[in-house]
Amino acid sequence: MRPIQKSRAMIREELECAPALRRFGSGWISGVVGLVLGVAGLALVLALRFPGAFSAKELTAVLTTSWFRIVLLGLLLIAYASSVLSLILRSSKTLGGFGLAITLLASVIGGCRATAVAPDVTPLYLGLDFFVLNVLFTGVVFIPLETLFPRRNEQPLFRSEWREDLFYYLVSSLMVQIITWLSFGPARLLFVATGWAEFRAWVAALPFIVQLVAIMFFTDLVQYWVHRAFHRIPILWRFHAVHHSAKSMDWMAGARMHFLEILVLRGSTVMPMMLLGFSQMAVSVYIFIVYLWSTFVHANIGWRLRWMDRWLVTPRFHHWHHGIEKEAIDVNFAIHFPWLDKIFGTHHLPEDRWPEGYGIHNHPVPNGYWKQWWYPFRRK
Ligand SMILES: [Zn+2]
Ligand SMILES: [Zn+2]
Repeated sequence: MRPIQKSRAMIREELECAPALRRFGSGWISGVVGLVLGVAGLALVLALRFPGAFSAKELTAVLTTSWFRIVLLGLLLIAYASSVLSLILRSSKTLGGFGLAITLLASVIGGCRATAVAPDVTPLYLGLDFFVLNVLFTGVVFIPLETLFPRRNEQPLFRSEWREDLFYYLVSSLMVQIITWLSFGPARLLFVATGWAEFRAWVAALPFIVQLVAIMFFTDLVQYWVHRAFHRIPILWRFHAVHHSAKSMDWMAGARMHFLEILVLRGSTVMPMMLLGFSQMAVSVYIFIVYLWSTFVHANIGWRLRWMDRWLVTPRFHHWHHGIEKEAIDVNFAIHFPWLDKIFGTHHLPEDRWPEGYGIHNHPVPNGYWKQWWYPFRRK
């Protein structure tokens, strides 16, 4: 085995180790924190060094503020301290050793004082900083919730196929510029082609909360039918099967979606947002809500939420959408309002039950990002 492959295998073995080796005081938690923050720190330093290549344009200004540099310094210090603690507590030095080495590398190439070294030669970039902030923020919100209120108690953080789903996170974050551009493109063209100036001015002047609920309703209505088409039309199902191939549900599982499906789904749901003329503020807040909500409904959180599951989509509702049993096929397409499924006859939420398992019968979709990329194009 080559050194890089060997290192990867060693790190993976440690991350996925048996519960007894992960217990509090074993140096596993500190090792994981040290490694994750070390990698995050290194990626952010790279974004500061090469903003033209690795920094999302909207984030570059944030990254170079003095308060963000203090945050980065804190992050690197915690990475150091955690890695050292793991080295002291744990007999295996893999997590602590790699965490320390990566954090050291991040410091050597500039740390929190890193400045840009290369001119910005193209308007194209990869959102490496967006990926780091995306995963750190989502992880900080959802890992404690999944730990405290798990739906599946025995499911570890690094469960099977975690690397695939993290890779989906990575690709859609790195490609954020092209995804945004392509998915807003058709709506932008239609926006110009349709007049509706007076109507749009009226919509944009509506109270903020009314606009927010209206965006949720119209995007979910469009999403419902696009999603249903992805289930019912065989060629589209081959793309959507990738999303349903996840055998575990958690905060990472929702990221698994074929690149072309992301474009179609976003391209169609931004239509009502743009064309009806909602204010920029309402659209931005909605995008943040839908990002949190779609993570939440996939999460390994066992809350019943009986008081709201008539009106809003809950984890249990969407878990049924991913259920492996027969009764879970082609149900619960909504992402915000479950009553859309009631109206259109696809609602399924048995009292007090969760699905037994997740995925597709016989698991036809192969593992691995690139195999899944090609899956829809393969001959049966
Ligand atoms: Zn689906
Ligand atoms: Zn889903």
